[in-house]
Amino acid sequence: MSDYNIAFEKAKEFHGHVCPGIVLGTRLTLAGLRELGMNPHEHNRDLMVFMEIDRCGTDAVQAITGCTLGHRTLKFRDYGKFAATFVNIATGKAVRVAVSEKNREEHDRLEPKEVLTTLALAPDDEILKIEHVWVELSATDIPGVPRQKSVCSACKERIMDGREVSTGGKTLCKNCAGQSYYQILPP
Ligand SMILES: [Zn+2]
Ligand SMILES: [Zn+2]
Repeated sequence: MSDYNIAFEKAKEFHGHVCPGIVLGTRLTLAGLRELGMNPHEHNRDLMVFMEIDRCGTDAVQAITGCTLGHRTLKFRDYGKFAATFVNIATGKAVRVAVSEKNREEHDRLEPKEVLTTLALAPDDEILKIEHVWVELSATDIPGVPRQKSVCSACKERIMDGREVSTGGKTLCKNCAGQSYYQILPP
């Protein structure tokens, strides 16, 4: 089996179905790892991925790289773009791979089955945009034991890894500092 097929099988199994997102996610991951000189079939200890979307392709990235939120090796940046940045945290080398718009219209006209084959076989520069980039990594972003722990003075919940906000001499979690995504309902 080719590198693509081995990686695609992992992505397909993890995601649960075959779709253009999984095909593109596989292509994008293989391109990123190749640029970093990493073997896609091995666990790459020094790999961290910044994912810019939470759609099908994200599952391909996770399944192939083994990078996850829980391992702190997958970072989610909610930009709504089918793109990911692959970082070698030991060397700082980083590459951002995005799905290219170059042939989008042409691909949209294809039959569903044809799309999958076309995306699987197209040369990288027909479907991907690859850029070498620099990513500023903070000590509180990398895997390992938490570098910082504090407690929110309002809700008393624990905050890990320096995610607290300091205002008026108070330490607050982001929820209590007004950046909450939820509202507490009355009991
Ligand atoms: Zn899908
Ligand atoms: Zn709080």
